[in-house]
Amino acid sequence: MKLSDRDITYLQGVGPKRAEVLKKEIEVASFEDLLYYFPYKYIDRSRFYYIHEIDGNMPFIQIRGRFLSFETIGEGRTRRMVAKFSDGRSVIDIVWFKGLNFVTNKIKVNKEYIVFGKPTAFGSKYNIAHPDVDPIEEADKVAAGLTPFYNTTEKMKSNYLNSKAIQSLEFALFQTLQWRFDETLTPAVINRAKVIDLSSALKGIHFPESTRQLNDAQFRLKFEELFFIQLNILRYTKQRQAKLKGVVFTRVGEIFHHFYEHNLPFTLTNAQKRVVKEIRKDMGNGKQMNRLVQGDVGSGKTLVALLCMLIALDNGFQACLMAPTEILANQHYETIREFLKGMDVNVRLLTGSTKKKERNELFPALEKGEIQILIGTHALIEDTVNFHRLGLVVIDEQHRFGVAQRAKLWTKATEVPHILVMTATPIPRTLAMTLYGDLDVSVIDELPPGRKPIQTEHRYDNKRASLYKFLESEITKGRQVYMVYPLIEENEKLDYKNLESGFETMKEVFPQFNVSMVHGRMKPAEKDFEMQKFASGESQILLATTVIEVGVNVPNASVMVIESAERFGLSQLHQLRGRVGRGAEQSYCMLISSHKLSNDTRKRLEIMVNSTDGFEIAEADLKLRGPGDLEGTQQSGLPVSLKIADLAADGQVLQLARDIAFEVLDDDPDLSKPHNRLLAERLKHLFAKKINWGLIS
Ligand code: ADP
Ligand code: MG
Repeated sequence: MKLSDRDITYLQGVGPKRAEVLKKEIEVASFEDLLYYFPYKYIDRSRFYYIHEIDGNMPFIQIRGRFLSFETIGEGRTRRMVAKFSDGRSVIDIVWFKGLNFVTNKIKVNKEYIVFGKPTAFGSKYNIAHPDVDPIEEADKVAAGLTPFYNTTEKMKSNYLNSKAIQSLEFALFQTLQWRFDETLTPAVINRAKVIDLSSALKGIHFPESTRQLNDAQFRLKFEELFFIQLNILRYTKQRQAKLKGVVFTRVGEIFHHFYEHNLPFTLTNAQKRVVKEIRKDMGNGKQMNRLVQGDVGSGKTLVALLCMLIALDNGFQACLMAPTEILANQHYETIREFLKGMDVNVRLLTGSTKKKERNELFPALEKGEIQILIGTHALIEDTVNFHRLGLVVIDEQHRFGVAQRAKLWTKATEVPHILVMTATPIPRTLAMTLYGDLDVSVIDELPPGRKPIQTEHRYDNKRASLYKFLESEITKGRQVYMVYPLIEENEKLDYKNLESGFETMKEVFPQFNVSMVHGRMKPAEKDFEMQKFASGESQILLATTVIEVGVNVPNASVMVIESAERFGLSQLHQLRGRVGRGAEQSYCMLISSHKLSNDTRKRLEIMVNSTDGFEIAEADLKLRGPGDLEGTQQSGLPVSLKIADLAADGQVLQLARDIAFEVLDDDPDLSKPHNRLLAERLKHLFAKKINWGLIS
């Protein structure tokens, strides 16, 4: 029987009650699940450390030496025992807050002990609180090597399933299976990747005897995890390339040329030119294009999209542009109409607030092909919307779209349209390879000339007077100001600034200016009205929630104030900041936060102050928060909840996995050759329940 079919209930030491807890709490239902439930940390009993080696964030370690003295200090709750412990070279404080009598009775001065605990920094020194203390004679009784620790929940602990219990269950499992597990990789892949076999790896991850063994085990299991993900993604790419024929755009024609020569208000940046060229090549080669365009905020993606849509038009096809919010769809519509002024191109807008009467007129025109470019929101993929000949779909700010919504697009066309996905959330390379591994990627890595880098400052929220003064002076110079809030209204549970009271305050502080406000709970028409007031310059200050995060373009706005900046992730802050710095003026971003900041938050804000490079920021975000929290990953539905690999740290393993997956598929695109049977089976096993991603990205 397969390990995944063997119910955890029947493992020795489990039984129905614990099995239920394991299933509920950590999704361990089968032998296989338990086998792949890896420790999250290890304790190093493989060697003795010297006190002078202690540094940074150490695991639990052991030190060998003698206690020099004991002293009880403090009164009441701060009463504690502090012992001086020497390893013969230097001395460290060992501290107990409880069980002081026990300590004085049991531990003797000048006798040799092994002290085992986690060093913590205390001022400029380290100490160890409540360590295990064992006489040196008992050294052989102390578990050697590395001790694994498994994540457990409160519920598990109350059912006696702590980390140690999990470890014994792992042991029982290994005994039952006689420490041998069926290999999941072929000999060819194992050799090529230079990894150890699966049985050794699983043993090494759950019962490591040395750091070396642990490292080899981790490498093998990380590789395996990433390899199958890559194999899965790339296999669909290969199949899609083989099976789906894209519509072919053979020429760049009159519409494109007219626009380029008469309407283009500036010269393209080299990066824009390069990316348009890449896309043109894709759309002309007979294969269906699936391309991701990454470009930092303000890099000019809209124009690139427009140029590509014009090529579709030149070849007798329609194009559509889909945006995640109504505000953004409206804005794209206005921008593109402005760009195409004087040209005979039929551009229309379709959003949730398009009136029935207008729809009744719009739909037939679309079906007849009279409408050439359709811009809109999700409304574009409603069942009632039918195109005549859709040749290109542009999806802006792609991460806002769910997979299911993208999938729907496919049913819109009889011929398969080209897909261009544009994102302004720069994605670290490793994440892109995992999330969008089947897309070709173009990067607009250059901003239009003349942009001044945005000056970013972090300020505490009790220094408001100077902030207001600054805003006043900017507005007096003719500039406009955004202020972003994490909350719409006051919330007792969350100590963050909110939009509604901010609105009252700003009206009071600046009676001489007009203040607008937009948020997600307003009706689209209301939102639009307020946005227009700001875009036209009638109001000088716009207060908003993150609805303005994506895409909004008001070049005259030069100050972005972000209230309770600690509430936002790095990529989000970067997106928000990208709303300014779009004109020729020097722009500013003010990150306002409270004094109480965690270390991570402080680091986040520091990175924002020091960098304006979206890719650098995205990398830092990945390191700080892990991929699970990054925007886009949750909705994507792709397997980024990795068990062991870490996309922030394992870029090289990922590259190796991807290279080898490529090689395997080059030789055997649908994994049908006998020597790849093992891989095909494993892939089926791992991704059986998943949707056919390759066809919908
Ligand atoms: P994003 O990539 O963030 O979507 P946009 O497409 O909104 O950026 O472009 C930002 C601004 O830069 C717009 O006002 C746009 O008209 C302008 N722009 C785009 N390309 C160029 C260029 N080559 N030279 C000068 N300005 C440009
Ligand atoms: Mg944009």
